Amino acid sequence: MLEEFKQLSPSEFFYRNKEIAGFSNPSRSLYTSIRELFENSMDACELNEILPEIILFLRRIKRSERGEIYKLYIQDNGGGIPKKHILNALGTILYSSKYVIRQSRGTFGLGGTLALLYGQITTGKPVKVVSSTGNSQIHQYTFKIDIKTNNPIVYSYKAIRNNRGWRGTIIEFYLEGNYSIASRYIINYLKLTATITPYADIIFVDPNGVLYYFPRTISKMPRPPKKVKPHPHGIDLEFLKYLINTFPKTLTIKEFLTRAFHRVGENTAVKFLQYAKIKPTIKLGAINDDILDKLYNSLRSYNKFISPSADVLSPIGEDILIEGIYKEFKPEYVDVTSRNPSSYRGHPFIVEAGMAYGGGIPGQAGDILLFRYANKIPLLFDEGSDVSYKVLDKLKQGSYKIQSDKPIAIFIHIASTKIPFKSVGKEAIADVPEIEREIELALKTLFRRFLKYRRRVIKKKEAEKRLKVYYQYIRLISEFSSKLADREAADINKLLERVKTRYNVKERISQTISKQRS
Ligand code: ADP
Ligand code: MG
Repeated sequence: MLEEFKQLSPSEFFYRNKEIAGFSNPSRSLYTSIRELFENSMDACELNEILPEIILFLRRIKRSERGEIYKLYIQDNGGGIPKKHILNALGTILYSSKYVIRQSRGTFGLGGTLALLYGQITTGKPVKVVSSTGNSQIHQYTFKIDIKTNNPIVYSYKAIRNNRGWRGTIIEFYLEGNYSIASRYIINYLKLTATITPYADIIFVDPNGVLYYFPRTISKMPRPPKKVKPHPHGIDLEFLKYLINTFPKTLTIKEFLTRAFHRVGENTAVKFLQYAKIKPTIKLGAINDDILDKLYNSLRSYNKFISPSADVLSPIGEDILIEGIYKEFKPEYVDVTSRNPSSYRGHPFIVEAGMAYGGGIPGQAGDILLFRYANKIPLLFDEGSDVSYKVLDKLKQGSYKIQSDKPIAIFIHIASTKIPFKSVGKEAIADVPEIEREIELALKTLFRRFLKYRRRVIKKKEAEKRLKVYYQYIRLISEFSSKLADREAADINKLLERVKTRYNVKERISQTISKQRS
């Protein structure tokens, strides 16, 4: 029998393998869909330096075979999508504005679009998209995705006069889900996002009519990331071939290096080519497999390239992080630290970490909760196999035996142009030594400062105990000694006040927080 060969379109491929992208069952799919669209909205705001205002409505429509059918409405005030890109951006898998080297939440051009495709497959209904970049028109499309060809099929189009200069994107579609199971993940996800984005206003109305509001409390935003060219250490062979093909064949290899790569100037190019034993005047058109091989291997092994610049990253920043943790958890104690930029295999990254104790931190005495983030996305699954978990565990076993009478929360954010996820599910970060080291240093700083704070609190408690005793007798002693000295009784209230404030640690901590906030 003759085997039948055929090629799948990207839509068909991803639809058939949707589990790997987080669309495995109705509850997980609902969670993933909300997450992907929400992240697109956040990206659309942050990359354009707009303070995000995001509204999500989820309505239950009816029961279905496997779960229930919902209508999801999401509105943002981001940059909007230019008319000529709307259909492709959301009606074609693997069409993205994010195939550049800078930090963003989306990367593959399939997250949000795949959510829409999932909705279409489970309900048979088209998607409605309304978007404007703030110019004279608002564009409204309804469309479906043709799975066989990976192209949008338009059902209707309308242009509306944009009298009030509205800018942003609204997406409305139907999908199958199971909110009673997914709700706790969805709400957790939004709360944890709000924790690191206190500059965003987020509203979610759930199918039961419950409103979750995560208000904006500061109007400072992280600086947006810059786009840069790839770093020589960060590319693979296929990408190198692709880069060579995008330049004219008559260009010399030296010119190519300086134009195609980040951090490679004239001097570096000359020295590198000496190292690689490649003639600088060779034209791109004359590069054969041998030279390509030599070039590629040398690019990877040459250790004198300057490290990639961290401008492509958009870390949260210490003051924003402290504000966010404070606003969402109202802890008794909060501390944050931000490591200097570093890099692994040509990809820059920054580790930021926070630690909070008591107050609204959930859990029991002795608990140490770990909240993980990658490029500002909270990671809720696969905690046990994440590098942060490994480091925290090591520190807990080792010299940092933290004992506390209240739960503690640890926040770890890794910002990078390429997060080394363990699997396509994007939930756990691999233990890359460079990243592991930075996390460890960040946590050690936080632990050290926390232990110092704890010692101060314990000292304060003991002092309070002593004060109590002291209080009982001080008046008597004062009166007695005044009489002995044959003087008038002294005013001891002032003295007592002074002693009280000296030991009021809580007061001082909140002063520190407000100082860091202003
Ligand atoms: P990715 O986010 O990985 O690029 P998506 O399928 O989620 O892939 O989105 C595809 C593209 O659609 C994005 O790259 C972006 O250009 C555009 N897009 C999606 N949602 C929005 C939005 N809310 N506002 C502006 N642009 C958007
Ligand atoms: Mg996306």
